[in-house]
Amino acid sequence: QGNLMNGKRGLIMGVANDHSIAWGIAKTLAAQGAELAFTYQGEALGRRVRPLAESLGSDTLISCDVEDLDSVDAVFAALKEKWGSIDFLVHAIGFSDKNELKGRYADTTRANFTRTMVISCFSFTELAKRAAAIMPNGGSVITLTYGGSTRVMPNYNVMGVAKAALEASVRYLAADYGPQGIRVNAISAGPIRTLAGAGIADARLMFNYQKRNAPLRRTVTIDEVGGSALYLLSDLSSGVTGEVHFVDSGYNIISMPHPDALKT
Ligand code: NAD
Repeated sequence: QGNLMNGKRGLIMGVANDHSIAWGIAKTLAAQGAELAFTYQGEALGRRVRPLAESLGSDTLISCDVEDLDSVDAVFAALKEKWGSIDFLVHAIGFSDKNELKGRYADTTRANFTRTMVISCFSFTELAKRAAAIMPNGGSVITLTYGGSTRVMPNYNVMGVAKAALEASVRYLAADYGPQGIRVNAISAGPIRTLAGAGIADARLMFNYQKRNAPLRRTVTIDEVGGSALYLLSDLSSGVTGEVHFVDSGYNIISMPHPDALKT
């Protein structure tokens, strides 16, 4: 418990269940005094998200599918009506057809490429724009990315291309909104067992490989991502924007696996 987020209000997008990265972030922010609103994708997930939101004292739960812009607009209209303004936004949304999260990137279809890009990348730009419109006093916006954006990770495929575009968006949006005192950053998380994570072929292998080869010799938790999100969304990081911050046990710095990992 602390007070780093006292007096701050914000929107959490991307809680599907209590394994979601967005949930780790929400818990951490609430423990520091943040007032939260949540969106959920469809009624089935809504039934899971409602008790979670309520357990953090939130009574603002809004349906939103980022493929449906009317539903996106409705979220921000509701927030404007309820709070007038917000201080932060968490975008923890990603999707690609499971059938293309295996095999070769080269075989990606145009239809899934476009859909993956819209949901996993461009939605952040659309949401940040609407959030910024109700951030008269500045604010902080974050998204979630993965190291498959800059280095090839087997099976990550079109998602890696979308994350590369998402990270570039973070830099462009940081430049666009900086003059308004709105900061835009990304957290690049190591593999975590979530619904979305399970959609990638051989996810278990990736998970174990990270455990054996990351400098910290383990994977990360959603609470650890929450800690870094707290930093990026609170005034602790008031001088930071346009960053991609790794929370991956240091995996991204490694070139070759440690010989000990190869011997066992
Ligand atoms: P998750 O399945 O818990 O969350 C993904 C969320 O995206 C869900 O809440 C889902 O409802 C939402 N979503 C998908 N399509 C949507 C749409 N059209 N409209 C609205 N919401 C939609 O999995 P997660 O791992 O917590 O994923 C959150 C973010 O973290 C994603 O961007 C993912 O790429 C990223 N990430 C995950 C990992 C990992 O290993 N799990 C690592 C790095 C980055």
